[in-house]
Amino acid sequence: MTTEPLLDIADLVVRFGPVRAVDGVSLQLPPGPYGLALVGESGSGKTTIGRAALRLVNAVGGTIRFEGKIVTKLRGRALKDYRRAAQIVFQDPDNSLDPRMRVGASVAEALAAHRIATGRQARERAGALLAEVGLDPAFVVRYPHQLSGGQRQRVAIARALSVQPRLVVLDEPTSALDVRAQAAILRLIGELRTQRSLSYLLITHNFGIVSELCEQTAVLYLGRIAESGPTGVLLDRPAHPYTRALRSAVPELGAHSRAARVILPGEPPDATKPPPGCVFHPRCPLAIDRCRTEVPVLRPVGAGRMAACHRAEEVLAEAAPAKAAAGGAAPAAAPGAEAAGPMPSASPGSVPASTAGDNPPGSTAAAPQA
Ligand code: SF4
Repeated sequence: MTTEPLLDIADLVVRFGPVRAVDGVSLQLPPGPYGLALVGESGSGKTTIGRAALRLVNAVGGTIRFEGKIVTKLRGRALKDYRRAAQIVFQDPDNSLDPRMRVGASVAEALAAHRIATGRQARERAGALLAEVGLDPAFVVRYPHQLSGGQRQRVAIARALSVQPRLVVLDEPTSALDVRAQAAILRLIGELRTQRSLSYLLITHNFGIVSELCEQTAVLYLGRIAESGPTGVLLDRPAHPYTRALRSAVPELGAHSRAARVILPGEPPDATKPPPGCVFHPRCPLAIDRCRTEVPVLRPVGAGRMAACHRAEEVLAEAAPAKAAAGGAAPAAAPGAEAAGPMPSASPGSVPASTAGDNPPGSTAAAPQA
């Protein structure tokens, strides 16, 4: 990374009682437009990392820097500025919208809280923000229950953007939505990323949504990074068996899904009693004796790539013939597919705008705010 990172997480440790929910994770996110995906199953630590970055949970080890300043040391005005610069969009929009408050007032409230605008000016800005996220500005007078799930998520995004953040943590932003609304919200997020030069920390269990939004991806397992690197390369040729299994579970990855489906046995282990050696070994189809005793360190396995697996080179070598057998077809354009450089050749913002499939309950007309 050549520019100073916007967000720099080093050796982060977060504990919940006896559980090391995050165990020595280091990540960097450059200024936008840029995306870093944190991918993993439930309990992998991905959400905790996002929340620690926003000071919503306490870290017991490591440092988190935003534009060079240590986030945990911010106080007073500097902390307020950080709270404005770093926003979160939750999985469930109802977490950020008061059901008793009209949506225009919800957005205006955020503007007032950060002294950006008050009164009539705030209400006018709220309408403009609704328009920016593809909603009819007249929706300012509606209550959340009068909107569809996708529309409520648009309002939540408008509220987050109202304070002009530079970093947005997207915590499973489409998981609570139906399939058509998911696609529309993902397009919107991609467009806003470019238009507003946003940096995204995208938290998801679904590999299928990262390629259009994130140049870099880190795959997490039991609080540690299993693999990280440019998203396109990771999807095309994983170096870790866990990444390979997650990727194979997403049929819509198209050119990235040449490999056969890998079904992992069982669930992630009890985090209070992590297995010895490689924490993934009880579920890993490639586990050998060494894996049961020796912890694999996260190490370079290619340009801009890291993997914590004793057999990463073999996993990579296995992936190569699959590419040749498929006729050497180039993978779909994905951020970061060519190198570890900060900018991709294909911009997520190039995805055409559409709000289809996001209509409120009972709606039949094709409305612009759908
Ligand atoms: Fe599997 Fe061993 Fe690699 Fe762990 S170190 S992912 S158990 S092959």
